Amino acid sequence: MLKRIVLSLSVLAVVLGCSNAPFTPAEREIITLSDSLMNVLTMPLDSAVLRAKSIDFSEKELSSPLLKTLMDKMLYTVTDPSQDGVGIAGPQVGLNRRIILVQRFDKEGEPFECYLNVRIDSLSGEIVRGPEGCLSIPGKRGIVPRRSTAHISYVYPGESERRSERVDGFPAIIFQHETDHLEGRLYTDIADTVFVTQGL
Ligand SMILES: [Zn+2]
Repeated sequence: MLKRIVLSLSVLAVVLGCSNAPFTPAEREIITLSDSLMNVLTMPLDSAVLRAKSIDFSEKELSSPLLKTLMDKMLYTVTDPSQDGVGIAGPQVGLNRRIILVQRFDKEGEPFECYLNVRIDSLSGEIVRGPEGCLSIPGKRGIVPRRSTAHISYVYPGESERRSERVDGFPAIIFQHETDHLEGRLYTDIADTVFVTQGL
């Protein structure tokens, strides 16, 4: 009887997507079975995942070796010549989780850095309009209004305390683009204009 109750509870936890469970079976499959070059989801085919809101990693997940594998594979994917992006977000590789990688053009060596459970707390500065593309919307670019400064908070890999940071310029734009992905938003939702680049 007790066994049955325990089993029922664990099934319920999986069904409800209990936040204490370290990754769902589907997430584990994506992380472990994918090649280093992960499959990048694209619109409109994968709109169910790309339009969904992402959730935080639990404490258990933040210290899981699976998360390290995911970060490594996302880095490999965004820097691969076939993608050549400046940022990537969890939903783009099939995971509705608050993880983004951003190329920090404002830092020496312009490294890609990973941000977990990341949020934009506020935006400030002037409105700037610049061209944007997205790995999940191939063959298109758009002119998108953004704010020049983003005040972000996040968990840095290997740490448990949240950090806060002010980011300016192009990296601030990338943070806005990537965190939008975590809310199910795409740049095409707010672009002044979107144009086709495929074949040009
Ligand atoms: Zn994008």
